[in-house]
Amino acid sequence: MAIERTLSIIKPDGVAKNIIGEVYSRFEKAGLRVVAARMLQLTRAQAETFYGVHRERPFFRPLVEFMISGPVMAQVLEGEDAIARNREVMGATNPKDAKPGTIRADFAKTVDENVVHGSDGVETARNEIAFFFPQTDICARSR
Ligand code: ATP
Ligand code: MG
Repeated sequence: MAIERTLSIIKPDGVAKNIIGEVYSRFEKAGLRVVAARMLQLTRAQAETFYGVHRERPFFRPLVEFMISGPVMAQVLEGEDAIARNREVMGATNPKDAKPGTIRADFAKTVDENVVHGSDGVETARNEIAFFFPQTDICARSR
């Protein structure tokens, strides 16, 4: 295992539910450290680019509409095996399949509004972090 960084987003439904703190608490309890964070309203172009891999999927249009329906909270999480660990804490994409105690099982009801995003691999993590944060906005934890 290695120390990794991953990109996490609290999606517009999570921000609207006012559970930013609850979600951060799950990350922290799992040993993940926030090393950068910002709230922003995604533009349509940004949302389309971010989820570009899904462009041909039937859910692409509604996904983009959802992602721009309100502000999101983006953060870089750091820790042992951070990419996989964050995906464990998030739970399965469809909350109906998510294990109890995961963010999606506890706070989401449907697959189209599932509270959080997390990078799914080393390469995507690198690209997605750079999408939101210049290197200088990421704070190495010095203590
Ligand atoms: P994310 O990329 O948001 O972290 P994920 O990696 O678990 O989620 P993906 O397969 O990358 O899942 O899908 C991206 C997002 O598209 C999902 O989080 C969900 O919001 C939406 N999505 C995926 N599949 C469906 C579907 N069948 N119907 C509606 N929305 C879907
Ligand atoms: Mg994904």
